[in-house]
Amino acid sequence: MTQSPVEKYRRRSRDIRVKDKGVIYRRAILDLTRITEEVEKECSDKVKGHYVRLKKTRIIRAIHDLVDCLKQCEPQSVCPSCSGDGCSKCHGTGFRTKAGGQ
Ligand SMILES: [Zn+2]
Repeated sequence: MTQSPVEKYRRRSRDIRVKDKGVIYRRAILDLTRITEEVEKECSDKVKGHYVRLKKTRIIRAIHDLVDCLKQCEPQSVCPSCSGDGCSKCHGTGFRTKAGGQ
């Protein structure tokens, strides 16, 4: 099945809007990366970082899990089943994620 130029344009516009929805996820991942670096830096200070260093592995693992969660939930593309209108396969979101598969 070939798409008309108008259909291609609409599809591309929907894909761009879905990618825009992922900005908040990518921004959060950047913030968490920065926090990880700050924890590492704090731990390198023998006095100020003493207590943080005791929990460093747990803190870094929690941040890593959160980053993984955000990556899985980031909108990836328009739902192929409903073309962005929302359906049961995309849980009404109109997009699909890595976690959602399809
Ligand atoms: Zn859908």
